Amino acid sequence: MKTNSESKVVLITGASSGIGEATARVLARKGHRLVIGARRTERLEALAKQLNEEGGAVEFTTLDVTDLDDVQAFVGFAIEKFGRVDVIVNNAGVMPLSPLEALKIDEWNQMIDVNIRGVLHGIAATLPLMKKQGHGQVINVSSIGGHATFPTAAVYCATKYAVIAISEGLRQENTDIRVTVISPGVTTSELAHTITHESTIEAMDAFREVAIPAEAIGRAIGFAIEQPGDVDVSEIIVRPTASP
Ligand code: NDP
Repeated sequence: MKTNSESKVVLITGASSGIGEATARVLARKGHRLVIGARRTERLEALAKQLNEEGGAVEFTTLDVTDLDDVQAFVGFAIEKFGRVDVIVNNAGVMPLSPLEALKIDEWNQMIDVNIRGVLHGIAATLPLMKKQGHGQVINVSSIGGHATFPTAAVYCATKYAVIAISEGLRQENTDIRVTVISPGVTTSELAHTITHESTIEAMDAFREVAIPAEAIGRAIGFAIEQPGDVDVSEIIVRPTASP
C-alpha cells in the first residue's frame, strides 16, 4: 500500500456500508490512519481486516451516533490508538422517506436523531480537541437534498439543510478548523433500505437506476482532506451526470 507523508488520523461514522465504507477504502489506500464506527460491528471488523491485510492502519469500534457518550468514547478510542484526531467524517445517516400525511413520526425522530444530532455529537466530541490541537477538519455529509426538497423527503431534506447550516456556522466561528460539506446525489448504498412506506420504496427503484458508485464520494472526501492546511474546501456536490 502507498504510504502518505501527509497521513492523517481520520474518524468515519457510518462506515459499515455505502459511502462510509467506500470512503474508508479510498482513504486507507491513500495511507491515512482510520477509526471506523457504526452499529453493525461485524461489517466493520471484516472491512478493517481486509484493509489492514492490504497494509492499512484501520481500527474499528461499535458506535451509535445518537448517543453522545458513545461518540465521545469513539473519539477517546481514536486518541488511545493514534494520539490525535485530524479529521472526523460525520457520515452516518438514515433516510426512511414517506409523505408527511403518513405521520411516520418515529421515523421523523430517527432522522433528526441520526442525521442532525449525530452530526452535532460528532462536532461536540471533536471540537474541543481540535481547538487544543490547533488544527482539525470536520467533514459533514449532507446531500443534494440539503439544497432542494421533493415529495416524501420533507423531513430528510430538513435534516440535510440543517447539516449545511450547522457546518456553515462552524466554519464561520473557527478560523483554525477546516469545515467541509459533502453533498452527494444518488449514490449506490443501502440508504433506501430504511424506507418502510410501500409506494415510496417502489418510486426509489427508478430513482436509483442512475446511481453513481460510493467510491466517487470517497474520492471527493479524499480531495478535501488532502488540500493544504490553509485551504478550506467548503462544499463539494457530487452527482450522476444523468441527474436533471
Ligand atoms: P448506507 O445506509 O449504506 O450507510 C449509512 C451508514 O450509517 C451505515 O454505515 C449505518 O451503519 C450508519 N448508521 C445509521 N444509523 C446509525 C447510528 N445510529 N449510529 C451509527 N451509525 C449509523 O447509506 P449511505 O452510504 O448512502 O449514507 C451515508 C450518508 O450519505 C448519509 O448521511 C446519507 O444521508 C448521505 N447521502 C447518501 C446519498 C445516496 O444516494 N446514497 C445521497 C445523499 C446523501 P449501521 O446501520 O451499521 O449503524
